[in-house]
Amino acid sequence: MEPIRTCVGCRQRDSMKHLLKIVSVNQSFILDRQRKLAGRGAWVHEKCLRLALDRKGLVRALGDSNSESLETWLRNQAQNMADTQ
Ligand SMILES: [Zn+2]
Repeated sequence: MEPIRTCVGCRQRDSMKHLLKIVSVNQSFILDRQRKLAGRGAWVHEKCLRLALDRKGLVRALGDSNSESLETWLRNQAQNMADTQ
């Protein structure tokens, strides 16, 4: 059985390997592509990043009071991904 996680954007459950993990570390955020970092994380499909941002799902999942910096960071991530597609 593959590990299953819930995407904080679309709320669908999916295999971990289809999801990105975002980890909150020391007031900053890391896109954990290797899915190896410990710590409080949120799982999201790459295509759901903007959705997760709009729905505040990521902010909630990471439980971070510093949501403004999270939003800024995420918008940059989403923008970077859009640029490389
Ligand atoms: Zn999703």
